[in-house]
Amino acid sequence: MYPPALRQAQGGPEPSRGTGADTPARAGATAGPYDALLLDVLHRVWGFSDFRPLQRDAMHAALDARDSLVVLPTGGGKSLCFQAPAIASNQLAIVVSPLISLMKDQVDGLRVDGVAASYLNSTLLPGQRDEVLASIRDERCRLLYVSPERIVADGALRRLLQQTGIRFIAIDEAHCISQWGHDFRPEYRQLGALRDEFPGVSVHAFTATATERVRRDIASELRLRDPLVLVGSFDRPNLIYRVLRRGDFHKQLGDVLARHEHEAGIVYCSSRREVESIAAKLQAEGHRAAPYHAGLPDEVRSRHQEAFLDEQIDVVVATVAFGMGIDRSNVRFVLHAGAPRSPEHYQQESGRAGRDGLPAECILIYSGADFGRWRQMLEANGEWNESARTLLRDMERYASATRCRHRALVEYFGQRYDRADCGACDWCLKELDAVPDSVVLAQKIVSCVVRVKQTRGSSHVTDVLLGRATEKVAAAGHDSLSTFGLLRDESAAAIRGYIEQLVVAGFLSREGEPYPVLRLTATGTTLLRGGAACVLYREVRPPSARARSRSSIRDTFVSRIDSDLFDVLRGVRLRLAQARGVPPYVIFHDTTLREMAMRRPKTVDDLRSVYGVGAKKAADFGDAFLDAIRTFRKPD
Ligand code: ADP
Ligand code: ZN
Repeated sequence: MYPPALRQAQGGPEPSRGTGADTPARAGATAGPYDALLLDVLHRVWGFSDFRPLQRDAMHAALDARDSLVVLPTGGGKSLCFQAPAIASNQLAIVVSPLISLMKDQVDGLRVDGVAASYLNSTLLPGQRDEVLASIRDERCRLLYVSPERIVADGALRRLLQQTGIRFIAIDEAHCISQWGHDFRPEYRQLGALRDEFPGVSVHAFTATATERVRRDIASELRLRDPLVLVGSFDRPNLIYRVLRRGDFHKQLGDVLARHEHEAGIVYCSSRREVESIAAKLQAEGHRAAPYHAGLPDEVRSRHQEAFLDEQIDVVVATVAFGMGIDRSNVRFVLHAGAPRSPEHYQQESGRAGRDGLPAECILIYSGADFGRWRQMLEANGEWNESARTLLRDMERYASATRCRHRALVEYFGQRYDRADCGACDWCLKELDAVPDSVVLAQKIVSCVVRVKQTRGSSHVTDVLLGRATEKVAAAGHDSLSTFGLLRDESAAAIRGYIEQLVVAGFLSREGEPYPVLRLTATGTTLLRGGAACVLYREVRPPSARARSRSSIRDTFVSRIDSDLFDVLRGVRLRLAQARGVPPYVIFHDTTLREMAMRRPKTVDDLRSVYGVGAKKAADFGDAFLDAIRTFRKPD
């Protein structure tokens, strides 16, 4: 059933065409030798019409047997980069994946698409394992998912693979190999040995982790040979970022939930106690919510995780233990009830929203105290070092910044951001409130910096402005300054926020490591003399519950009727999923149902042109959805 074009490459380690040596120079837009083949697979198997950015180059590398390192953000479409070439090559590819639960979900999903995929791990019964091995021997299998432990320890398996021949090895979540990543797994370190066992086979590493250091670790640990390195844009344009200072938290949370009725979301908390109390409160209010943290029995945890994947639950209230391996692509919001310890963590955790590419919302609700708490915790764990301090300060900067959040994150990860207005953050949506007497407020703060002789950091300056005679303030005699207590009606978090804004706007600068002090800049001097304009922003004004959040799937429909039909189609999906024992997203993603609701296909042919409807799914599920569309009645 697969095109035979690459059949001749089978068995040999050499690539079928080209050396791959010219790959980096090849322009992304020119049609390569494999394009027609790959596009056919994309359309036939998944119902997609084109490559996502970098997918084409990544797939070519796999077919050309050129080692590669592919860095794409969550939702960027990494899986297809190894799945499509395996199918197109008509040979077996090995996929090393760290999580058993994720493995099963991916394989289930591929099978529903009609792809011959299997996995080998400790959960299989002997009979199942034999069946998988037989499918490898008979060359029926295209994608074999294995855990790192398995491929490293199972000599018999490796010998079998050497005999039958494999097309390439893909290493998913490759950052697990690096101690600089956020999820180090020692087993990954042994994967470099595969080079000796499969000398002619190319290795392709995939990760969403952005840092240079992790990238270097991956390349050297896996012993990649002149890899093609592909790094995608880290911007996630479909995510709307908002930051709120923590006020009446339950009201703030309630507003978010009201914007996402019956939609999936994750609420991250910093403690188990908070998880329990928030989950209980939400349940009492009638939300379909459940707690998730490391202190719950395994059985309860996996039950809640599954209920979330199966769409029996809308909201999971969790510690950060929840998330690795969550493949629910229609998460419409991720709310942090407290600042994480670094922008890396924030990016990782908030990035679980909107993997289907539809609008989703990331809300950070923080208070200044979060940072002190992190410091204490890291100190207690012996992890309070320079990098931890820097990362935490970077996080505080992100939280209190008054600039485009997309830009802030993209630039933080070392990339350029070209748009002046993202249209998808609290800053660009103009949800921040300007302080009426900004210049006067700014002058008070700047003059306090001058009074402490530009020798103190922002906590100290904040204490002085608040009128807190702490030990340090008293020792320096700063409790007798004219600026002592000048802003006693403000909160510490608010003052710190203003200071951050003044730094970002260039009126103040931070100098010195590791304890930077605030200094006056030339424009700061001009400001003091009354010769500069300045606008400061206070507490973020949350969008009202009724206002369109532009991140609810309902807001993306033009008409209410389409939205109603969408709900009907979701019901059909749930029924099919339950009958097959798979999570609903394995049947169709929301993106597909949404397009069906709007286009209302009448025939199987119409259906095949809908995004995400491959040949196998159209054959298996087409009638159920076409029937539902045909019998759907518009309300009068
Ligand atoms: P990642 O592993 O990088 O987080 P996935 O491989 O899970 O991303 O892909 C994210 C989503 O994008 C999935 O729903 C996937 O089906 C979809 N997708 C991937 N490639 C394409 C494409 N070429 N066209 C349309 N949708 C795609
Ligand atoms: Zn913006």
